[in-house]
Amino acid sequence: MNYWVGIDLGGTNMVCGLLDDQMNIVAKLKKPTLASQGSDDIIRRLAETVHELLEQNNIHKNDLQGIGMGSPGFINPDLGIGVFSANLGWKDYPVAARLQELTNVPVSIDNDVRMYVYGESIQGAGRGHKHVLGITLGTGIAAAVVSNGQLFYGGGYMAGEIGHIPMDGVTAQCGCGLVGCLETVASATGIARQAREALLDGRTSLLGDWFDSDSLARLTATDVSKAYDEGDELAKEVMEYTGRALGKGLAAAVTLFSPDCIVIGGGAALAGERLFAPMREEIQKNVIAGYWEKLTIVRGELIDDGGVIGSATFAKSRA
Ligand SMILES: [Zn+2]
Repeated sequence: MNYWVGIDLGGTNMVCGLLDDQMNIVAKLKKPTLASQGSDDIIRRLAETVHELLEQNNIHKNDLQGIGMGSPGFINPDLGIGVFSANLGWKDYPVAARLQELTNVPVSIDNDVRMYVYGESIQGAGRGHKHVLGITLGTGIAAAVVSNGQLFYGGGYMAGEIGHIPMDGVTAQCGCGLVGCLETVASATGIARQAREALLDGRTSLLGDWFDSDSLARLTATDVSKAYDEGDELAKEVMEYTGRALGKGLAAAVTLFSPDCIVIGGGAALAGERLFAPMREEIQKNVIAGYWEKLTIVRGELIDDGGVIGSATFAKSRA
């Protein structure tokens, strides 16, 4: 029987999944990434975890057909190189070759958002659609496009950084160095930041009862959702504004790529209709009718397993 390993490598945790040939997860192991110990050490512990998965599940190593991995940062999937990652310390590091040396199976690597969206498009909420645009809303926002089963990369494998499109009227400094990027608003971080700034400006809100100046830094997008559900005006305004900003950014992407389906994943997608209702309205308002009529917008299905399933599916597609 054929088995595959999918790895979702994050700055905090590494999740390794063992999958059968139909891409069902048989077992999973989650361990701390310990990125500060260096790239060689990350690879050594990944290889150990793969061996552990095989042993624990009585799988012979000859039955393992390949390993796929999603990693944050700029990745060159053709050469298997981690070009740059602030979280993991990749700097032109031969990730695939090193892991292949220690496991003796082919290793594929790509950017983590691409792997998540690839998983959703083939095995998750986007299945059955030929042209899928996927986004992840978390600390930031990023996108990937799968068209006819193929990922779109662009020059330098850098396509998809939708979070760094500057938006009219937004003045927040972004971590990328630009000002007014979409992700300073449309992300979990952006939602929390808007609420905090309004409170500091003296706005009255339930959130002001829940957080004082000492605890304000702990206010999250989830708190804004809770206040929204209690009918809080500020929380409603923040969600409305965020949803509309997201919709404007996505409208441009829809016109450019003409997807049949948009899949929305990541932690901030849990805001659900609070965010999606104004977002949908804004997309519809800003695209030609023909794009809107064929468009399905859905929340991601694979949630925490999207990266693992996507990476393994990607490895199988390249085998
Ligand atoms: Zn930016």
